[in-house]
Amino acid sequence: MTVKIELPNNIKYDINIDELKQIKLNRKVVVVTNPTISALHLEYLLKHLEAKELSVVTIPDGEQYKNMQTIEMILDHCFENRLDRKSLLIAFGGGVIGDMTGFAASLYQRGIDFMQIPTTLLSQVDASVGGKTGVNNKFGKNLIGSFHQPIEVNIDPSFLKTLPKREFAAGVAEIIKMAVTFNKEFFVWLEENALDDEKNLATAIAKSVQTKAWVVSQDEKEQGIRAALNYGHTFGHVIENETNYNTFLHGEAVGIGMVMANAVAVEIGLMTQKEAQRVIELLKKYDIPTAYNIADAESFYAHFFLDKKSSDNKIKFILPKGIGDCVITDEIEKENVIKILKGFNH
Ligand code: NAD
Repeated sequence: MTVKIELPNNIKYDINIDELKQIKLNRKVVVVTNPTISALHLEYLLKHLEAKELSVVTIPDGEQYKNMQTIEMILDHCFENRLDRKSLLIAFGGGVIGDMTGFAASLYQRGIDFMQIPTTLLSQVDASVGGKTGVNNKFGKNLIGSFHQPIEVNIDPSFLKTLPKREFAAGVAEIIKMAVTFNKEFFVWLEENALDDEKNLATAIAKSVQTKAWVVSQDEKEQGIRAALNYGHTFGHVIENETNYNTFLHGEAVGIGMVMANAVAVEIGLMTQKEAQRVIELLKKYDIPTAYNIADAESFYAHFFLDKKSSDNKIKFILPKGIGDCVITDEIEKENVIKILKGFNH
């Protein structure tokens, strides 16, 4: 199946969800990957790749390496291999590789093309689509970056067979995010269908990608509706930052963040307790954590201001409106949020 993205600035690209086809590229190509993915799948990828010149740069595996030093490493490799402005980078890995490869591509000689071949569930359903690229720094997550759209996204669900269970579940959290914010029917489908079935999984990937593509096509630069994809992230980013990025996977932190956002939504009457419970049940079905111990609610709240979405001292919250819809608001009273944070022990 192919999902198409069409942006108002005439940028168009295909997202192919299928077994990987032969990719022929008449240009210099650099594959960016890490040792984990390389050991499992690089041979398979290279069998499907033909290029004028091909090299591979292997960067360290882990969110803690999603930083400017690693970007330098990728760029150095590009210069050493004399890439020109027609060359192409291929992101071969999860969201960390995808975000960094896209960012490096946007910087090299003021911008070259890149292609996404995502290998985690999270990157297949979310990170590889939409052109948000970047790295973390000591002030927080994804604070340095650019919008740079890939020229193509190739999603082969068979890569997921080697994905550890926890990583798989982290991807499911982002699928649930899409359903809660945009598609009630999809949410009910997720309640009724298990994703350990290959066919169901392919359906869920396709539905999530369609949702993401639809949102990005309307709002590439996140001036409006695209912010809804950050449901769970405002809280999740604080959780990741407080725990030094070494306790929860990104998708797990987002899972807990969704439960927190739902609690605020219930508090102000946007969602019923029963609906919030349905989301918790669905997360639990995939062993996605829903609990977090907030040591200091005021300090947790203060962390929100480091989020890119906060401006003029206002915090932007994405809160569900029932299931299948959401609101983006910076009008939530601090007391309502602090009350939820203080009582949060799911
Ligand atoms: P990740 O890239 O760290 O991958 C998770 C782990 O799985 C890594 O150890 C990786 O080496 C390993 N792995 C990858 N593919 C594998 C496979 N097929 N089999 C076995 N192991 C495999 O994490 P992620 O969850 O894919 O991505 C998280 C990142 O994505 C975060 O940095 C987040 O900020 C970013 N993100 C970006 C966007 C966006 O729109 N750009 C959206 C959501 C998340």
